[in-house]
Amino acid sequence: MKPPADGRRILPEFTYEQLEKLFAEWGEPSYRAKQVWEWVYKHLADDFQAMTNLPKALRQRLGGEFILSPLEPVEELVSEDGSTRKVLFRLQDGETIESVLMLYPKRRTVCISTQVGCPIGCAFCATGKSGFKRNLRAGEIIAQVLHFAREMKPQVNRDEKPITNVVVMGMGEPFLNYDATLHAIRTLNDHRGFNLGARRFTISTVGIVPGIRRLAKEGLQVELAVSLHAPNDELRDRLVPINKGYPLKRLMVACREYIEQTNRRITFEYVLIDRVNDSIRHARELAALIGGMLCHVNLIAMNPVPGVPYGPPPRRRVLAFEEELRRLGISVTLRAGRGVDIQAGCGQLRLRELSKRGAADVKA
Ligand code: SAH
Ligand code: SF4
Repeated sequence: MKPPADGRRILPEFTYEQLEKLFAEWGEPSYRAKQVWEWVYKHLADDFQAMTNLPKALRQRLGGEFILSPLEPVEELVSEDGSTRKVLFRLQDGETIESVLMLYPKRRTVCISTQVGCPIGCAFCATGKSGFKRNLRAGEIIAQVLHFAREMKPQVNRDEKPITNVVVMGMGEPFLNYDATLHAIRTLNDHRGFNLGARRFTISTVGIVPGIRRLAKEGLQVELAVSLHAPNDELRDRLVPINKGYPLKRLMVACREYIEQTNRRITFEYVLIDRVNDSIRHARELAALIGGMLCHVNLIAMNPVPGVPYGPPPRRRVLAFEEELRRLGISVTLRAGRGVDIQAGCGQLRLRELSKRGAADVKA
């Protein structure tokens, strides 16, 4: 693990076993790993000085060699109804990423980023427009969840989880940063600490076939979402450029194998774009493509993105598309657009920030 800028390492990047090894090297008793792990992931400490059952000298040493979070919140936007909060974080190298907290009656979901920008460049996506800078480190991914967990902890009962769900649907393509993403999920899933059940995680991929294959073998009960957006290669090539590398035929084979190997349902994400992929003909083609699979379709009316020549269809077209899929026996839900007033579609805040700075890497 390469240390971050100031030489101090990111503590949430260590596995439990690595912490045990570290404390053994430091000549500390082995239960220190358990203590520190619980401070970080159960009590959600944001400062080593708060770890009161550690000797003062050890707290000092930890503070000198580690940081608990590599993220600095620089901007927060709250939707009008207060149910959606989006934070722009500055990383140690000055790059920025976004994460979103969504509050529902019984769920508190964090949407996290896995990359700074995204190299895929989907036609309707703000993140895709801002170019690609780098992969996030595991510690940078974990810290996004811990940030919101710390915020929510005082507001929930002792027996409730501050964060109930994590969706990997922020900036970036998780399967192009596979190891760090899985490391983060395994850490947050660890029953000795944060203990968020595997089923509470959803990984959304644009359709990176080797990633789907790898995930099938992990033996991890996470939810998989595949961003489809088009029922044929001609259209998908235009909307999702990676389709040229992993065309629908290969993608659907990988999805079928995934379902067979894991016995788990796949969710297909379909962003509806006015007059582009939203006709009844497209709905029928989609039903034919995925019919018979253990799957579910999540329809989302496109969030408008400044500078993008696409937009959401009128409501009646969205409903007609949904109705047609249902009529053809496809399990489908229409996802409510959340926080449109705060540009909660990930990537939009960063895009605005970059434009303000006049950054050269914002694609026109
Ligand atoms: N790279 C991954 C995960 C991040 S994007 C993926 O593409 O799946 C998460 C989801 O947001 C994807 O389904 C993506 O298609 C969708 N999305 C991107 N831009 C959007 C927009 N402008 N409106 C609505 N959904 C959008
Ligand atoms: Fe990347 Fe996903 Fe946006 Fe496509 S939709 S550009 S894969 S973040």
